[in-house]
Amino acid sequence: TQSEIWSKVDAYITERLHPYDSVLEEALAANRRAGLPAIDVSPNQGKLLHIWAKMQRAKRILEIGTLGGYSTIWLARALPEDGRLITIELDPGFAAVARSNISLADVHHLVEIRNGAALDQLALLENEHPDAFDLIFIDADKPNNPGYLQWALRFSRPGTVIIGDNVVREGEIIQEHSTDPRVQGVRKFYDLMAQYPTITATAIQTVGSKGYDGFVIGIVNG
Ligand code: SAM
Repeated sequence: TQSEIWSKVDAYITERLHPYDSVLEEALAANRRAGLPAIDVSPNQGKLLHIWAKMQRAKRILEIGTLGGYSTIWLARALPEDGRLITIELDPGFAAVARSNISLADVHHLVEIRNGAALDQLALLENEHPDAFDLIFIDADKPNNPGYLQWALRFSRPGTVIIGDNVVREGEIIQEHSTDPRVQGVRKFYDLMAQYPTITATAIQTVGSKGYDGFVIGIVNG
């Protein structure tokens, strides 16, 4: 079937271009043992996030939606030694698994995990007057994507890159009357991106071991 081919090609790409990485494999195994849903980004997508962070020479990264920290590790590994990554996770059990995975990956000195609802945590973060982030990865509950984009823009500077995952949803995204609140959240997210004159954005459809989906990527204008 089509999806078997996508998975096989993903495996081919991973075998060719990603040396075996026991830390990342162990993180996924720990997630499975703890019963976390396997909704992390795929290895190829994790590496794509890593490359984007490097291209951006990111020193400050914000991630919304940690799960077990798989994407967090990929992103943190792109940071310089004085870099900082703040990641927000609602579920305390998931955050605990992420904390352990991030320690085993030896990036704990770069990463701060904040446990709580992201909209609340972002409001708390604003009180701390943080420096602007260089890259922001939005990957939590999709109905809140419009709110997350507004926060992301507040925490941005000209040149900040904002990325969102799961913006195609097997094509469901074009169903304007969808009753799925995730589809509606992502549709509003597109509408907001289109409305803000301050952001230049596109989305790219992806296939692979995680099925048919897509990333949105935008850059805040100078
Ligand atoms: N970025 C992760 C990765 O690729 O490894 C995957 C994140 S997973 C798709 C989405 C995560 O968002 C889940 O762990 C879920 O518990 C979390 N989440 C859901 N609602 C949230 C909220 N309101 N605030 C913060 N996190 C939330």
